[in-house]
Amino acid sequence: MNTPACFDISSGRITTDNNVQYLFIPGLEQTGIRHFFTTKNSYGGSRIPFDMEKNFITVKQVHGDNILIIDSPVNDINSLAADAKQRQSDAIITNRSHIGIGVYTADCLPILLCDPVRSVIAAVHAGWRGTIMGILSKVVCQMVYIFKCQPDNILAGMGPAIGSCCYAVGETVIEPLKSVNPEWERFLIPTEYGKAKLDLTSLNIMQIEDAGILSKNIYSVGLCTSCSNELFFSYRRDGIGTGRMVSGIMLVQ
Ligand SMILES: [Zn+2]
Repeated sequence: MNTPACFDISSGRITTDNNVQYLFIPGLEQTGIRHFFTTKNSYGGSRIPFDMEKNFITVKQVHGDNILIIDSPVNDINSLAADAKQRQSDAIITNRSHIGIGVYTADCLPILLCDPVRSVIAAVHAGWRGTIMGILSKVVCQMVYIFKCQPDNILAGMGPAIGSCCYAVGETVIEPLKSVNPEWERFLIPTEYGKAKLDLTSLNIMQIEDAGILSKNIYSVGLCTSCSNELFFSYRRDGIGTGRMVSGIMLVQ
């Protein structure tokens, strides 16, 4: 692995410490809220850093648009974690401290959101199905309505996902996208008849800009999971048996 110990990418920073590699977004780190994206060099993608490992909540991701909301005091973290793992859901929002929340991906887009003013965080898994269902804008809506966040205080970090360079899709994806998004042509690069390459990250950025998040508060690491073989697992590139990366966020105040 020739990756240097630390280098800057579009909006992210990759560091390697004791052979464990993580990706961070400096724009999110400035808030004091902890977050990370693993790479395939984080002990097989599954090593969770800081003190998040014991208190880490994930859900049963099903490419839907259900959101798990954790807004009451947590007395039994193990029971919450076990319950959440069975919960069919593709996003988690919480305002509770010292509970890490996260999603698993290997081409789909992981998005970490935080409102440092209201102390609210979210982790979102968005593949093409969840994106077409508007999962990310639904998460922002819940942050606003349930937790009284102001959209212009929310920061968003778009993690590594398959890029438009590698994400060939057919009519199964193109037709539903056309039906929900009048600007669909902006996000598809036609290749041959009935096929195109999809820009999943830009489609999600448009969703949260429409939901009121300021462009200056949206950070995208800008790395394609399929192109970056040395850094990431890719379902499209490696097939069904590939590993998964974890993306997580935690309030520490
Ligand atoms: Zn690519």
